[in-house]
Amino acid sequence: MLSMLFPNKCVACGKIIDEGISVCEDCGKSLYRIDRQCCKYCGRDILPCGCMGEKNKFRRNISVFRYDGSAGKIVKRYKMGKITQISVYICQELSMLINEEYSDIDFDCMTYVPMSRIKKLFCGFDHAEMIAKGISQKLGLKNTALLKRKFSFKSQKSSKTKYNREKNIRGKFMVVKEVKDKTILIIDDVMTTGSTLNECAKVLKAAGAADVFCATFALTYKK
Ligand SMILES: [Zn+2]
Ligand SMILES: [Zn+2]
Repeated sequence: MLSMLFPNKCVACGKIIDEGISVCEDCGKSLYRIDRQCCKYCGRDILPCGCMGEKNKFRRNISVFRYDGSAGKIVKRYKMGKITQISVYICQELSMLINEEYSDIDFDCMTYVPMSRIKKLFCGFDHAEMIAKGISQKLGLKNTALLKRKFSFKSQKSSKTKYNREKNIRGKFMVVKEVKDKTILIIDDVMTTGSTLNECAKVLKAAGAADVFCATFALTYKK
């Protein structure tokens, strides 16, 4: 039987669980789905959200879960191991949310926040690219690599504050395809301060994109 060879595991902790569910009972207790009554710009459901509102370069972000708790564990396991079951789960949850929240938007294409080539070599795969491909299949929306990360030795992890992240990420992306007058959906696994997505939206708009929306699996909140 297939299920004996590939037992169904909790996407957050890896424990073997019954078929048909994705998260075990314990992990389910700390999986916080974001309330749909949330900030219409950044997608956080605790106000004040601390985002720049209309000044964000993207029109809107939507996220499925708060990063705290099990969603963070899911993202970390996915990044470590390229586990197909987890990417299927992330794509499923995110596709459903996109279908619900962005049903009235006519996207021309979708793209993702790319890793640097060196990081991709190191990790073995580009997390956001793989999610975007899965979502593209589900939604029937074309996924195109519109952005490229410029070469840099610095890691963004070193900066915790929003100001520093903004400064570090500035000028790090370039647009590599025609985007003029296009309405674009950017996919990423996690939105933290929003600096990266803002920078991506900024360069896309500078290259002529009509509008930019974001969809991310998990969203961090200020402590
Ligand atoms: Zn679990
Ligand atoms: Zn907000």
